[in-house]
Amino acid sequence: MTRSTRIALCPGSFDPITLGHEDIIRRSLALADEVVVAVGHSPSEAKRHLFGVKERVALIREVFADEPRIVAADFEGLVVSYARELGAAVVVRGLRTAGDFEYESRMARMNRELAPEVDTVFLAADPRHGFVSASLVREVWGLGGDVDRFVPAAVLRRLHEKRAEAR
Ligand code: ADP
Repeated sequence: MTRSTRIALCPGSFDPITLGHEDIIRRSLALADEVVVAVGHSPSEAKRHLFGVKERVALIREVFADEPRIVAADFEGLVVSYARELGAAVVVRGLRTAGDFEYESRMARMNRELAPEVDTVFLAADPRHGFVSASLVREVWGLGGDVDRFVPAAVLRRLHEKRAEAR
């Protein structure tokens, strides 16, 4: 039997990476030799983001600096095309709510149509982070609320720097 590196792909927008994402990504290590955390983007959506793509990738690298089996990258276009390019065995997605399931199961079925060799694995969100989303973090932070319980320390540091720069 030939042994090759088994890759799990964790795609998302990660604007910014939250403790919910971090939990799913670390748990993905049980499924693969290497986990690729990939920030998906398209040029048209550039303006609406809190952090630019390169900055999001840099933050992800900082969060997983302790774990050489987790790497960060960015990609454009379809998740399945990028999964194929990487030779990823699985795409991992987190499920928080029934709403997530509704959306994610349709997406997984479409992706299987497009690329039958790339399967999707769902991990149930840890209840501690089940209500955390990057969009809510952006909203709470934008309105002056505390987000220190929802994001990794590196993100919190960068948020404070960004606020200071804007002054
Ligand atoms: P968000 O929905 O927070 O903007 P992304 O679009 O970047 O996140 O999603 C990347 C993946 O992370 C998706 O599979 C999403 O379901 C999952 N995810 C997001 N937040 C959480 C959380 N709090 N717990 C578990 N999984 C999560």
